[in-house]
Amino acid sequence: MEISGIDIKIIKSKRKTSSIYIERDGSVSARVPETLSDNEIVDLLKAKEYQIFKHLAEWQELNENAVEREYVSGQSFLYLGRNYRLKYDEVESGKLYFKRNTFYLNPTDQPKAKDLFVKFYKQKLNQKLPKIVKSYQEQLGVYPNAIKVMELQNRWASCTPNANVNFHWKCAMAPIDVLHYIVVHELVHLIHPNHSKAFWNEVDKILPKYDEQIYWLKLNGAGMDL
Ligand SMILES: [Zn+2]
Repeated sequence: MEISGIDIKIIKSKRKTSSIYIERDGSVSARVPETLSDNEIVDLLKAKEYQIFKHLAEWQELNENAVEREYVSGQSFLYLGRNYRLKYDEVESGKLYFKRNTFYLNPTDQPKAKDLFVKFYKQKLNQKLPKIVKSYQEQLGVYPNAIKVMELQNRWASCTPNANVNFHWKCAMAPIDVLHYIVVHELVHLIHPNHSKAFWNEVDKILPKYDEQIYWLKLNGAGMDL
């Protein structure tokens, strides 16, 4: 369906609310209740035209920034959903420091800057994730065996049949509410190992606004490569 020159893929769903997404490749899709007629869908999308343009502009900006991040002074890096600048300074070598809303590295560490960022993100997640998992496990009645932070291919998190939950170190770039969503998503998989209606109902019970977190992940996924 075309609205104001933008091609929008319509996905009819059983949900009562509608949402519009910009996919990773910049294409636009709208999830709408299956009960809507074509005319109603057109009206709905036209009413959201401004939002669509705004989201597209944001996507374009993010994706321009997504090309090859250089580890130079002034470059910004995501941490818990916000961008902070990197500065080279006479801090102790071998470690990335985060203080006063700035990342610091010793100039001699520039060649291994990427590794130091990954190490930093892993360390922070290892501190934060157990607490977040704990805050939901009783409510859900699931108790993971182990929580690990690692490099995962194209996935934010995964879980194994023996209840180990793995998180990509990139999760540290996401805002805290998105991190909570990723945790809840994986914990619910320990009950429903699929994306069935029952699975989403369970997620919805705990995080009724999970659409917003999914949207953040879609919008920012491309800007998260180190
Ligand atoms: Zn899943």
